[in-house]
Amino acid sequence: MTSTYFDWLKLFGSVAKGTESVDAAKCPRCGARQLNVQYVASPRDRIGYGTMWCENCWHGIWISRTNVPEGWSYATFEEAEGGIIPDFVRIEPEEHAPRFEPRP
Ligand SMILES: [Zn+2]
Repeated sequence: MTSTYFDWLKLFGSVAKGTESVDAAKCPRCGARQLNVQYVASPRDRIGYGTMWCENCWHGIWISRTNVPEGWSYATFEEAEGGIIPDFVRIEPEEHAPRFEPRP
């Protein structure tokens, strides 16, 4: 199964808004229901970044400069340095953008 950054972004949006629960949501890449969401933000303005990753295929995305939605908890930047977010393969928007293929 292939997944694009946009697939992940869409799902992240639904989960963040609460229209889809993170426990029930399927990984856009492998279909496992093993997604995790973690926000990291400053307590001052609740602005930071959000991550969503899959614990089955270890792929995921980072959303930079986002605010923590109402009802979501978050870690501080100091806490995040302690390694609460595992290493996963980060799907970048560019990775799936059409590439120019030079003609032979
Ligand atoms: Zn997966």
